[in-house]
Amino acid sequence: MGEGKTVATLRGLVPGGGVFTGELALPYAGDATPAMGGRAPLAVVRPGRREDISAVLAFCNAEGIGVVPRGSGTNLSGGVTAAEDQVVLAVNGLSRLLEIDEENLTATVEPGLVTAALHKAVENRGLFYPPDPGSMAVSTLGGNVAEGAGGLRGLKYGVTRDYILGLEVVLADGRVIRLGGKTVKNVSGYDLLRLMVGSEGTLGVVTEITVRVVPAPETRQAILGVFATVDAAASAVARVIAEKVVPATLELLDDVTIRAVEDYSRCGLPTDAGALLLAEVDGMVEAVAREAERVKAAFRAEGAREVRAATDARERDQIWMARRTAVSALARVRPTIMLEDATVPRSRIPEMVRAVSGISRRHNLPIGTFGHAGDGNLHPTILTDRRDPEEMKRAEAAVAEIFGAALELGGTLSGEHGIGLAKRPFMKAQFGEAGLDVHRRVKAALDPRGILNPGKLIPPERVSQG
Ligand SMILES: Cc1cc2nc3c(=O)[nH]c(=O)nc-3n(C[C@H](O)[C@H](O)[C@H](O)COP(=O)(O)OP(=O)(O)OC[C@H]3O[C@@H](n4cnc5c(N)ncnc54)[C@H](O)[C@@H]3O)c2cc1C
Repeated sequence: MGEGKTVATLRGLVPGGGVFTGELALPYAGDATPAMGGRAPLAVVRPGRREDISAVLAFCNAEGIGVVPRGSGTNLSGGVTAAEDQVVLAVNGLSRLLEIDEENLTATVEPGLVTAALHKAVENRGLFYPPDPGSMAVSTLGGNVAEGAGGLRGLKYGVTRDYILGLEVVLADGRVIRLGGKTVKNVSGYDLLRLMVGSEGTLGVVTEITVRVVPAPETRQAILGVFATVDAAASAVARVIAEKVVPATLELLDDVTIRAVEDYSRCGLPTDAGALLLAEVDGMVEAVAREAERVKAAFRAEGAREVRAATDARERDQIWMARRTAVSALARVRPTIMLEDATVPRSRIPEMVRAVSGISRRHNLPIGTFGHAGDGNLHPTILTDRRDPEEMKRAEAAVAEIFGAALELGGTLSGEHGIGLAKRPFMKAQFGEAGLDVHRRVKAALDPRGILNPGKLIPPERVSQG
């Protein structure tokens, strides 16, 4: 079928939505990953009704046309880049909050609902949806499910995967399945629900999501610790956990990041510090007071030269501004940032940080390291310039070494950002040939014609390396 006929057919399949091509489709070629995505896809299809997704997939499957499901396009792994012969299926028009069920402590949403909108809606009812990716003002719940997104509260509350109770999924051939539901317990059949979470749009299109919500914590306390070295800060992380306190959040900023943030936001950070730890404990008033004291004591015991607790909401916001602005602040230092999320067991954080420093020195590239120290998920961020091919080569070598170091330390390529196109060359190093074979068989079983998000997550057989 020719391009014109394909586009005309798609227009007929989404009467309440939109189909656009050419220049209007160009912004949908890439995502938030630097140096990914180029030419406009064949078409962007933005359905206004859920039932139209089945028809679009059935048609594309019959014609062998690649379909790239897309939320807000904020992923950092080249997850929604689309080729010129592929269709982008933008589900962000399906954005209704369908229900908040206070009796079962669940919320049911369409996939295009923005994450922060769900937060606000449940908070208005005294409830809490903990997964909080830094992009939540823009990212969609569908994108969060497909990436298995994390956030700052992973240490105590876990990540998106831990909150998904039910999904409606349209399969590659247009058939619809429902997985899970509102029940707390559910062990019927294979755990297809968990298979779908983190599948990056390669196994099905999520059209409805039921999440678990929890009662909102009574109060919160933010604490900042200033350390001379990253090693001292890492020891303080270990000591907090050894004290049997599990903060909601325990974030690290290294010296490169501290200086970039201070330069950007002038929020009064000590630019001579080697590292900062930002912690937040939450829960019942009495427990929070006790836990905050234990966190402060642990910071001091590991040599923190200053420990500050927020006394009001303004101070709390000030402490968190340092963390919230880290990505934007680092992005001002050089034209291109390559932000990774290789993750190690929390006890190996000091070794990982040392490995990243060595990689930075060897390749003569600044790397700012910040992130979720409490759950081992750091974001080493290479500051580079994509216009300089020689420097980009060094940056790519540095990325490969960061992944190598994480795997060596018993970690994983991605804690929350997914594999997409960016990390697929390293999949073999993590899973081995047999592990990749299982991935390929699962993909072939659910998407035999390979139309869903083609080329993402699984390296092609010929070029898998590592
Ligand atoms: C500044 C910034 C900060 C960030 N901070 C965090 C963070 O703290 N934690 C974190 O985990 N991530 C973070 N991210 C990454 C990103 O926001 C997340 O991966 C997010 O989940 C992507 O959501 P999205 O709606 O933009 O999805 P998209 O980028 O549009 O898509 C992501 C993936 O989901 C698939 N997909 C989208 N919708 C569906 C659907 N309905 N059905 C099936 N597949 C679908 C796509 O095919 C793609 O593979 C950050 C990104 C930025 C730019």
